[in-house]
Amino acid sequence: MLSDVLSSIKWLGHDGFAITAGGIRIIIDPYQIEACEPADLILITHPHFDHCSVEDIEKIKKPSTVFVTEAESAQKLAGDVRVVQPGDRLTVMGIEIEAVPAYNTNKDFHPQKNNWLGFILTVDGIRIYHAGDTDLIPEMADFSVDIALLPVSGTYVMTAAEAIEAAKKIRPKVAIPMHYDAIVGTRDDAAKFQAALAGVCEVVVPGR
Ligand code: ZN
Ligand code: ZN
Repeated sequence: MLSDVLSSIKWLGHDGFAITAGGIRIIIDPYQIEACEPADLILITHPHFDHCSVEDIEKIKKPSTVFVTEAESAQKLAGDVRVVQPGDRLTVMGIEIEAVPAYNTNKDFHPQKNNWLGFILTVDGIRIYHAGDTDLIPEMADFSVDIALLPVSGTYVMTAAEAIEAAKKIRPKVAIPMHYDAIVGTRDDAAKFQAALAGVCEVVVPGR
């Protein structure tokens, strides 16, 4: 159920999330995290230091951990690393994973040609979209997801205003703002995102 999956999603700060489903612990883009329970599956969206943080990955890695990421991040990782490109699909430990595009349209930090990633995971029948570092891109119109984790900080990614438009395009049941309160972006961006989407979708602003 949506509420069960939603309650299993923990924000670790910035773009970091932990999701637990069917005994599988998934962690996406850990950055400046506290020591916590190790992950069975780690997803990394792209090689920037605040997304592919080897120091943080060391805190949650175990010998059996499987990584899913793109080629450049894979070079920084060791172990069972599955390299994917936007459009690829795979199933790891029963979790369906779709790699989707993530790129800038009005700045140059995340060029489309780099093939960096967002992910759509299907967990207990619920589809969770982690957007990675992206602007509002046309592909979003085709995503069918229940929960959307969207960056709101501006500078390197969508501004809160752009993220509001993205949520209106994606139309998830629940949206969760991310990519703020660490490097760029503030809680005000998250609050603005939440307020503007009243009546469009539920917005959850998690505490840490
Ligand atoms: Zn980035
Ligand atoms: Zn970033």
